[in-house]
Amino acid sequence: RRAEYAAMRDLPPITRDGQRITLMVNAGLRDDVAALDTTGADGIGLFRTEFEFLISAELPKREKQARVYRDVMEAAGPKPVTFRTIDVGGDKALPYMTGDNGDEENPAMGWRAIRLALERDALMKAQAWALVEAANGRELRVMFPMISEPWEFDEAKALFEEQRIRALARGRQGPLAIRYGAMLEVPALAETLDILLPKLDFLSIGTNDLTQFLFAADRANPKLAERYDWLSPAILRFIARVTRTSHEGGVPVAVCGEMGGRVLEAMALLGLGIDRLSITPAAIGPVKAMLRSLDLGALRTDLPLLLAHPPQNMRAALLDWASSHDV
Ligand code: PEP
Ligand code: MG
Repeated sequence: RRAEYAAMRDLPPITRDGQRITLMVNAGLRDDVAALDTTGADGIGLFRTEFEFLISAELPKREKQARVYRDVMEAAGPKPVTFRTIDVGGDKALPYMTGDNGDEENPAMGWRAIRLALERDALMKAQAWALVEAANGRELRVMFPMISEPWEFDEAKALFEEQRIRALARGRQGPLAIRYGAMLEVPALAETLDILLPKLDFLSIGTNDLTQFLFAADRANPKLAERYDWLSPAILRFIARVTRTSHEGGVPVAVCGEMGGRVLEAMALLGLGIDRLSITPAAIGPVKAMLRSLDLGALRTDLPLLLAHPPQNMRAALLDWASSHDV
């Protein structure tokens, strides 16, 4: 099958009934950009910038960060790259970061990501400077992790705008434009989307953290791995609602968690209205093969009915649907 997937590199991700899906890859290091070429993906939907920080023995200087981001954008050519600002803290602690981020009882729910970045703003200012500098003359796409309330997005965006103004004041060209997005991975954010959406250029659902918070089930605990399913009605209904609300607000929404890289889960996400996926490069072939055989219109009619009265085993029901519709 691997040869079959490789052969699909140049085939467009269009469903059997003619709907174009945006298929992107997740990345974290400079060398990962090569996956764009090997998979034929549409862009990088999630660039986890903290990887460079985690593999470094000391805090990377802003010039060094800028070089990495410039290399990534240049290697991607015309394909868009969405940089996620640093998601460290909790269990991804930086050894060279001093302060009180020591032992936390619940690091995943702790002082991490945007929470830490807004308080230790020197870190995020340096990163914003580096991204603005690297994007000179190009469009820059940034998204902020673990947003739980709209004000966090406002502050993070203001911090980036400040660096853009600084660059312009110094006679730099600056980015052509900056597109700002938020990750939806804390369930509370879904309750204030009406406030957040008008401020956003795009939204990206991080299903890894979202599911652990929705089910109060540690994503790293193997004892819980069997206890909940990405295809459970709770998750599917939640994502359906967020997707509908975002689209009604005119904001594009992607899924960038691992869920989107599983074939049946990806099919369900498309059925819920998602039309952009950012997934691990190895999943592009299998997911593309699935969607090219999918009658998406039929699924978008049938899935809401299924979710209105969910069967005992949603996974089995979706597998049935797939086989009876030649997916
Ligand atoms: C997620 O939480 O789904 C996500 C994409 O971010 P990460 O896996 O890096 O936490
Ligand atoms: Mg996350």
